Amino acid sequence: MSVGATAEVKSKLSVVDVVGETVSLKKAGTTYKGLCPFHGEKTPSFVVTPVRENWHCFGCGLGGDIFSFVMQRDSLTFPEALRQLATKAGVEIDERTKREDARRARLRQVLDTTIAFYHAVLIGSKIGEPALAYLRDRGFTDATIERHQLGWAPAGWDHMARQLQAKRDIRGEELIEVGLASPSQRGRGVIDKFRARVIFPIRDQNGHATGLGGRLLEGEGPKYLNSPATLLFDKSRSLYLIDKAKGPMRKAGNTAVIVEGYTDALMAHQAGFENVVASLGTALTPGQIALLTRYASRIVLAYDVDAAGEKAGTLGVTALASLIGQLQTDDSGVKL
Ligand code: ZN
Repeated sequence: MSVGATAEVKSKLSVVDVVGETVSLKKAGTTYKGLCPFHGEKTPSFVVTPVRENWHCFGCGLGGDIFSFVMQRDSLTFPEALRQLATKAGVEIDERTKREDARRARLRQVLDTTIAFYHAVLIGSKIGEPALAYLRDRGFTDATIERHQLGWAPAGWDHMARQLQAKRDIRGEELIEVGLASPSQRGRGVIDKFRARVIFPIRDQNGHATGLGGRLLEGEGPKYLNSPATLLFDKSRSLYLIDKAKGPMRKAGNTAVIVEGYTDALMAHQAGFENVVASLGTALTPGQIALLTRYASRIVLAYDVDAAGEKAGTLGVTALASLIGQLQTDDSGVKL
């Protein structure tokens, strides 16, 4: 993303105008005041300072420049906010950025097609039956499986890659680029990266698929596998279910709850605790915290105490649900 374009857009737009589109601002000396659009309030604690080109809310603690305002307001990524404001400012975004956008859009299409394929295998095929039985056994409802597009990546070397190349006009190199396949060791062709795994599609805050998480049901290999880093996927900036949880976080008093695993997060959502996200099997990163603080000012960790240990089990669903329920009604939770 060009730094030049960012600076140019900033110089052409005033923070008062951009914020003023959605917030009614009143001049107060060298600043402007209004009601914060990000938390409910009756007296204005939202301040825009033109000389510093920034805004800040003393009520919920959010603040930043025109880009972070639009990112917050419209739930956009930085590149999306830049594009929106560049159009407004009449600033041309460079060719390289346009090409990258097109590449990203194509990879997203490939990923979406693969997710649909794995989902169809899970719910509509003979080879998906054991995995479906396993998920139902673990307490997942069909509605949850549907809503979150869970899938089954069959065992075998190239089940997915073969099908999608033959029937969906997707090239092997594209599957490699989006992190779903690897070059075959023996000569030509590609092999599936996810084999014999339950598939959890990982999405960004706007609901766009960025990668996959896969849980091995039986056989060799690590129990959990995530997509590698790609043009779409950066594990250290991703949180499972952030797209579904961001709204409920605001409703839950700007509180976010982080659990460890996909299944814990899904179970929490299924039980009605929708302000829950899961880290992707890593220690929490600054990028993940930055993503969360766009929607929540209070972050609660509901990790298993033994999380660091190899044999860490997952929290029981009931234990987790009661913990979250307690944290939502009680203000003494861990604060980060
Ligand atoms: Zn606020």
